[in-house]
Amino acid sequence: MASRVIPVEPFDLVIFGGTGDLARRKILPGLFRRFLSGQMTADSRIIGAARGALDADGYREMVRAGIQEFGGAEAQDEAGLGSFLERLDYVSVDATVEEGWSSLAGLMRDGVVRAFYFSVAPALFGPLAERLHQHGIANAQSRLVVEKPFGRDFESARALNRMLAEHFHEDQIYRIDHYLGKETVQNLMAVRFGNVLFEPLWNNHYIDHIQITVAETVGVEGRGSYYDKSGAMRDMVQNHLMQLLCLIAMEPPSRFEAEAVRDEKLKVIRALQPVPAHHVVRGQYDSDGERPSYREEAGSPRTFTESFIAIRAEIANWRWTGVPFYLRTGKKLRARHSEIAVVFKDLGHSIFEGDEKRHRNILSIRLQPNEGIDLTVTIKEPGPGGMRLIDRPLDMTFADALGEEAREIPDAYERLIMDVIRGNQTLFMRGDEVEAAWTWTDPIIAGWEKRNDVPKLYDPGSAGPDDALMLLHRDGRRWREIRG
Ligand code: NAD
Repeated sequence: MASRVIPVEPFDLVIFGGTGDLARRKILPGLFRRFLSGQMTADSRIIGAARGALDADGYREMVRAGIQEFGGAEAQDEAGLGSFLERLDYVSVDATVEEGWSSLAGLMRDGVVRAFYFSVAPALFGPLAERLHQHGIANAQSRLVVEKPFGRDFESARALNRMLAEHFHEDQIYRIDHYLGKETVQNLMAVRFGNVLFEPLWNNHYIDHIQITVAETVGVEGRGSYYDKSGAMRDMVQNHLMQLLCLIAMEPPSRFEAEAVRDEKLKVIRALQPVPAHHVVRGQYDSDGERPSYREEAGSPRTFTESFIAIRAEIANWRWTGVPFYLRTGKKLRARHSEIAVVFKDLGHSIFEGDEKRHRNILSIRLQPNEGIDLTVTIKEPGPGGMRLIDRPLDMTFADALGEEAREIPDAYERLIMDVIRGNQTLFMRGDEVEAAWTWTDPIIAGWEKRNDVPKLYDPGSAGPDDALMLLHRDGRRWREIRG
């Protein structure tokens, strides 16, 4: 694999919830790929910690099966896989029970980075932090990775922050939002701050509006009972979509460095305006006769939880006043499609006679599928017949533009875990950011709860409820197509 890979320091990574779905599907296959690349060296270790009574060999077999199922082409590398599995150990611990903790303490080594990944329900964050402290397993240099959801409102997020702060400093805590680990999201910053072309135009003089779409084709399936307590706003908007919005809207930080970047993101969240009820559209997928409805999948016949949401947001500062940010995300939509589209303003005056079409430059940052960036530009329609203009994208799909190198792009979890080991918090959410994000979303949720808002039904495979189209039509705008 790549020769440019710089190995990280040796580490001991303890994964609480090491037998869970996330560990099996994402964390461990990701670490395996970093091991094959040479970034995780042979003197590092991963310790699975969970409730099940497994021994180390049993755990290795479980991880082997997970990597073979989810690890992609690299899982064929038998020798590499065997060597990776030798780096694994397992301890059976229960966050709520005293036993087992001294065996974990006995496994920890001095002189290496110590990291703890809380891939468990948030209710266990406090008890786990307490045990790590009580048994001297975590020290002042240890790092702590916590999964989403980080609270379900401002109060619970603040309580979690306070609980963690009892034993860990903020600079030891890595709150994961895997959207921030995506290659394209980082490319968004490279495009904005690495080119002279865009930043001068990045404001309300030149930008008409911004659309952020995260569309999924899957429904809630087996996660129905969990999802029904959260809904699209808590599960997607409060974290992922708001993080994307922050990166688009923030002022240029003085350096690409954790505190500078996170300070700027926080300022954006604080400048977000309260959202009136008519700027929010909630939806829920119906049955199409064959596939089950949301209510059937959630096992809750009268639930009003939203599986779709669209919001018109506004940022009150000099750069963005007057530029709406339209956010939408939903399940069982037409295609799996995530995109940030920066739609520039119309040309003030056209010199081309007879050209009445509205030509707009659109910078589109595609998160999935076909990660890449394209810029719609206006050109002359080829051939005779005078100056007729057409709009075409300058397309940079990373897989084409970067060739071999694109295959070496680590996925979001891989990159973020390596950042934890390197001690780089730039792509993680700070505690005050998460709290501020809830401060914006809480009144929106409280508003629809007070109104007993009933989500609009939409057909599976559609673009969401019609009311979401109206949200833009009212402003004389249109959503971009959701296409795979
Ligand atoms: P899971 O139910 O599959 O696994 C839970 C794990 O926690 C198991 O290993 C279990 O042994 C362990 N556990 C449960 N109770 C414990 C206790 N008292 N003490 C010690 N260990 C205990 O859950 P998951 O899907 O892997 O999710 C884990 C966390 O990651 C959750 O917070 C979830 O919200 C978050 N998350 C999951 C996904 C996903 O795709 N699965 C995505 C994003 C975030």
